[in-house]
Amino acid sequence: MSNNMEEEFSNEDILVDKNSMPEDDPNGNTLHDAHDIRWGPQHAGAKLLASQYTKVSGILTADFASGIVHWGADTWGAVDMPIIGRNFLRPFREHHIDPTSITRHDFIETNGDNFAVTIPYLLYMAYKFTYSNDIDIRRLYNIEVYMFLLAIFVSMTNQFHKWSHTYFGLPFYISVLQRYHIILPRKHHRIHHVVPHDTYFCITTGWLNRPLEAIQFWSRLELLIEKYSGAKPRSDDFAWAQKTEKVHFE
Ligand SMILES: [Zn+2]
Ligand SMILES: [Zn+2]
Repeated sequence: MSNNMEEEFSNEDILVDKNSMPEDDPNGNTLHDAHDIRWGPQHAGAKLLASQYTKVSGILTADFASGIVHWGADTWGAVDMPIIGRNFLRPFREHHIDPTSITRHDFIETNGDNFAVTIPYLLYMAYKFTYSNDIDIRRLYNIEVYMFLLAIFVSMTNQFHKWSHTYFGLPFYISVLQRYHIILPRKHHRIHHVVPHDTYFCITTGWLNRPLEAIQFWSRLELLIEKYSGAKPRSDDFAWAQKTEKVHFE
């Protein structure tokens, strides 16, 4: 009896399946074999969620990169080193002694270097989007979203940093972005400007500063480097902070 019932249902199922229209499925979740695609990285919902992660991780990578570069330049090396001393390290020393000098730099002086770093990749991306076929574009989409946000936030890092030192005349929408910690807030960045400038190095959004401080990321890294190289962290930065103007009376 039950076998008959099952058979009847099965036949009916087959008929329904055969004679009905396929249901509208804009996400494409039922168009594939349920076993290997429905639940997994190819699931449309999973793809959409993954694309959200790639956006956040592009911004987090930019923030972390800003921390690494800033920490490296603040902590190691000296202004009298050949090539990088004057060109790369000097502005970092100056920024600790005269934090608002950055607000007197124009757009090009503030952002030129970071824009220059990202432009080649953005051009390459524009080329790929122009000349690749749809399938390749879809396949690369998530990684390109990640790279695009990384590039945008890297190129804007010094501008965000400059705004965090700007106390007058900021556009309203910038202060809203700061207030909601979408970009580096003023109060948050001020923690870095407390002598000896040994924490809160991330200056894009500053999202990673608290977690990195919680695991003592920078101090542990410095201990490791000091142990193997013998170099003292911030010795040059400290020397510049100690400088006094010699006044001669004749
Ligand atoms: Zn600094
Ligand atoms: Zn600063």
